Order: sequence, then structure tokens, then C-alpha cells
Amino acid sequence: MALIVQKYGGTSVGDLERIANVARRVAERYDQGDKIVVVVSAMAGETDRLLGLARKIARIPNEREVDVLLATGEQVSVALLAITLESMGYKARSYLGWQIPLRTNSAFGAARIEDMAKTALMDDLDAGNIVIVAGFQGVDPSGRVTTLGRGGSDTSAVAVAAALKADACEIFTDVDGVYTTDPNITSKARKLHRIGYEEMLEMASLGAKVLHIRAVELGMIHQVPIVVRSSFDNEEGTLVCAEDSDMERTVVSAVTCSAKDAKVTIAGLQDKPGVAARLFTTLAEAKVVVDTIVQNVSEKGITDITFTVSEADLAKTLDICDKIRDAIGATGVFGSDDIAKVSIVGAGMRSHSGVAGRMFTALAKEGINIEMISTSEIKISCVIQRKYAELAVRALHDAFELHKSP
Ligand code: ADP
Ligand code: ASP
Ligand code: MG
Repeated sequence: MALIVQKYGGTSVGDLERIANVARRVAERYDQGDKIVVVVSAMAGETDRLLGLARKIARIPNEREVDVLLATGEQVSVALLAITLESMGYKARSYLGWQIPLRTNSAFGAARIEDMAKTALMDDLDAGNIVIVAGFQGVDPSGRVTTLGRGGSDTSAVAVAAALKADACEIFTDVDGVYTTDPNITSKARKLHRIGYEEMLEMASLGAKVLHIRAVELGMIHQVPIVVRSSFDNEEGTLVCAEDSDMERTVVSAVTCSAKDAKVTIAGLQDKPGVAARLFTTLAEAKVVVDTIVQNVSEKGITDITFTVSEADLAKTLDICDKIRDAIGATGVFGSDDIAKVSIVGAGMRSHSGVAGRMFTALAKEGINIEMISTSEIKISCVIQRKYAELAVRALHDAFELHKSP
């Protein structure tokens, strides 16, 4: 008898018919004698709808209450799935984050899981129940509802799998695996049968929303093998596991794109020690995650800094920068959200040269201007204008011939 955690995303539980489809798949597995924990997301579009309501009321709605609001999306879907399974004659019990409890810190909107209790879930499984867990949510030390960041149900699933020492964590979604790039951007995208945690982590952090970044991180730390599969067919899927010698040996394995970033420029800054420290410490205290940072070479002791944040944090970031503008001696603060970040990812880049040149050439051939560049051992990212994002992805996928099996 195996213990399996299955996670179904928003599209997979998008309406009652799809919930019935999920229930059938879960029941089939249960009938084979396995213990099953199902983690579900809110029905497709629901989290956005709820967020839209809050933003109609306030430009920057209270973040603690936004979490209370958003967590209702998953409350609806766990209940509907449990009702469906019960009506099919199965014993099912739903759990909200606080009922487990799945404990997190208090970073509302981006909470990190600290630990979770296992007893109640294990008792239910032993009693023959199908356990259904609301993804994306937890509870902080003061008993407040928290959410884990957009796409966070994947993380709930991996955390549950790690805590219960499950035999597998299956992420069911609307694509049948992890591809060399988003298959909805180019039909040339090729499915990867296996991928290492490290590469997957880079892909997730650079916009491949097929897996939430923290899910991959937790999988890597706790060595949970994660399988990404389609909830609409029985194709094999992609295994995310520790890198090994059988894996594809390509320099570049994937192209990713994130169109959810925004750019902030602070102009006329004094080029002296402590200015960047003050700016980024203040942003960190407000829990703004800053990504790429570029500081220009100063002229006559004056410089400017441009950095990217998530689009959702743009209003908050601009408010903070405006407040400390005088203290850091800046003359202007500008924000724009018409940018995108395209990246190439590959463990093989560690030992190859010339990759950046090939990337920049491919973008130049399409007339795409690069605004910012950042690199790590296994990725190169370029910030470009958002309208060119998909063109850039296709150009890079072609330039590195990712459609071809290595
Ligand atoms: P769910 O709601 O099931 O969590 P998501 O929308 O969060 O699903 O993630 C699945 C989507 O991820 C796909 O529909 C696809 O557009 C996108 N995606 C982006 N990059 C990739 C990739 N490299 N491989 C597969 N899917 C990708
Ligand atoms: N419902 C949440 C979201 O839309 C979490 C998830 O789907 O993983 O971001
Ligand atoms: Mg998702």
C-alpha cells in the first residue's frame, strides 16, 4: 500500500464536471488500495476574481485580510470535491490550512511553511478516508490565515508529501509535463521526461509557472520525487528529481519567460556608501522581493539604480521609494510594468562559454532591445519590452534548437 499525494490545479477543478473527473481519478487510485491525500487549488479564475474585488476597494488592500479573502477560493474547492466523493460512496474529509494545522510565518501573501501536524491526517487515512487539503493556505503563530503566494498549492502538496513521507507527489495540471518552454507559446516545445531539481528551481523562479518555486525547493530539501502530469489524460508526465548522469546533457535545457515583473528606476542618487543599503533594507522590511538590480556608472557622484519587483508589488514599492526619496537623496522615482524577463536555463552552462553571445544575437536578430541582464551559474536573463516576450521565447527556443532531442 502506497501513500500518494495528488495535487489538482485550478483548471483541473474549474467546474463541477472537472471536479467529478478529479473525483473519478482519485477514487480509481483509492480502489487500487493506496492511501490518498488530495491537495486542490481554487477553481480557475477564482483567486483573480477575489483579488479584483479587494482592489476595487483599495489600491493597496490590507494584506492580512486579502489572505482571508483569497483562502476562501480553496475552501470552496475542497468542499466540492469532498461532497462529490461522498456522493460516489467514498469517505472523504476536507481540511483547511488552520485545521491541520499547517503553520507558516506571518509574511501575508507570501508565507513560508514552517511545519505541519501529521496526526489528524494520518488518523483519517488509517480510518480509510480520502483526505482533501486546501492548497495555498496556512495559519501564522497568532492564528491568522496566511497564503503562500500565487501558485502556492504546489508547495502545499510537496510539503504534505514531505511531512507524511509519501511515496509520490503527483502534480496534475493542464499540460502533460514540463516542457523545454511553455507549450502554449510554441508548439515546438518538447516534453522533458526527467529534470533535476536545480534546473527546475531556476525555471520556476524565472516564470515557468508549471511548478511553484517553493514546491521545487521543498522537494529538493526533502528529496520528494515530483511528477508533473495532465489531469485530462494518462500520459507519462515529467519526473523532477535529483540530477543524475542519465539526464539530458544539453547546454541550455529550457527557455522561460515572466511577464509579471515591473521595473523601478531611482534617479539622481548620490553615489556613496549606504544609499543602496538603505533603499533595499527598507524594501526588504516591507517584504518586497527585489529581483534584478542594475546600478549605472556614476557621473560627478550621481548615479541611478534600476531594479525589478513583481508587478503586484509595484504600487507598494513606488510608495516606499517616494517616502525615502529625500533620505537617500534621489531626484526621481519611476515605475513601469511593460517589461518581461526572458531567460535560458541549463546546468550545462556551468562548463560552456559563448552561450550569452548566442542569446543576445538571437534577440538582436528579432530587433529586440535588452534593457537589463542578469546571470547565474545556470541561467541568463534579459529584461525586454513586454510586447516582445513571446517572440523572444520562440527566437531563443529556435536558436538553441530545443525542439531537437539531444
Ligand atoms: P495549475 O492551475 O494546474 O497549477 P498553472 O497554470 O499554474 O496550472 O501551470 C500550468 C501552466 O504552466 C501551463 O498551462 C503552461 O502554460 C505553463 N508553463 C509555463 N512554462 C511551462 C513549461 N516549461 N512546461 C510546461 N508548462 C509551462
Ligand atoms: N489559487 C491560488 C492561485 O491562483 C493558488 C494555486 O492555484 O496554486 O494562485
Ligand atoms: Mg499552478
